[in-house]
Order: sequence, then C-alpha cells, then structure tokens
Amino acid sequence: MLLTMSVLVDQNDIVKYCSHMSQSPTERFHLAPAPDGLQVVQNLLNTRAIDVYGLPDLIADGEAASRTWEMPLSDDDAVTLRTLRSDVEAAIAGDVAARPAVRVELVTDIDGTVRLSPTGTGTDWIASEIWSEVLLAQKADTWRRLKRCKNEVCGSAFYDRSRNNSGVWHDVKTCGNVANLRASRARKKERN
Ligand SMILES: [Zn+2]
Repeated sequence: MLLTMSVLVDQNDIVKYCSHMSQSPTERFHLAPAPDGLQVVQNLLNTRAIDVYGLPDLIADGEAASRTWEMPLSDDDAVTLRTLRSDVEAAIAGDVAARPAVRVELVTDIDGTVRLSPTGTGTDWIASEIWSEVLLAQKADTWRRLKRCKNEVCGSAFYDRSRNNSGVWHDVKTCGNVANLRASRARKKERN
C-alpha cells in the first residue's frame, strides 16, 4: 500500500508528515512546507503548471498523476484530481460551489486519541485525506496562512509565516519584484 501517511525527516531535521509522493510538488518552488498535514494540501495545489517557470502540470493526465502519487491513476482520475485542486483553491479564496460530501473515518487509538482516517481507494482516498487535512488546519487555525501567490502568472501555494499573516508573494525577490517593477513602470508612464 503506497498511500500511507509517512513520516519523513528532511535535511533540516524537520519532521514532515505527508502522503507518499515521488517528489514534493512544493519543492519545485523551493518553498518551505506548511506544518503537519497541511503540506499535503499545499502539495496538491503546487501540482499546477506554472508556465513562466517552465513547470508542467503534475496531474495533466493519468501518467503524470501516477508518477506524482506513486499509484496507478487513469486519465479520468487525473480529471477528478484537477477538480479537487480547483475546489481547494476555491476554498482558499473563500468561494466554494456545492460539492459532494467526502467520507472519512474516526479511529480511536488505544490511548484514547481520536484521529481522522481517510477512507476509500484511489482518488476517493486522496480527496478524503485532503479534506481531512483542511479540517484539521481550520481547527488549528493554520488554514488562513496557506495562500496562493498574488502574482497571477504564478499562483503557487505557500505557507505565510509572517507575524501578522500579511504575506502575498511566494517569494518577494521574484514574484514580489515583478509586481514592484510593474507598479514603478506604471508610475513612470503616468509622469511622462
Ligand atoms: Zn509567486
């Protein structure tokens, strides 16, 4: 079973929990992962293609999706996953259309700890895991810190660690600079 929660320790000795993926989509942006299971949600968002950085969509079709999740997924599954990704993006924007309920199990461990356990197989399991993590992040109040870069041609998902949660760029040096440059050009144009 490839889709188990695994505990990984990265080079900074940060313990991360994530579902098994061949490569972290978030790493493509050299971004720090969101805390705990929220990085699973961040990873889903960061599968999106970003043309300006020459990054392909990691769930463009079944083949790409299978590589990303290390499990057999069809072209139809890839469509389902792209819809899931759009739904989560809508949730971040606070604008979700009606969508079917997702199943998840509550499991009580021997020490009395109750946890959410995703159910189903394939894309059902992935959707169950994703929405479970969204729920946990909302309860932990970390959800509002998961954002999409304000640069429209970027839109990568980053976790805002700024004290007052005011970050808008995934990277101030790249996307922030592009925006500043555009604004200063516009101001120059106005003056001329
Ligand atoms: Zn960006």
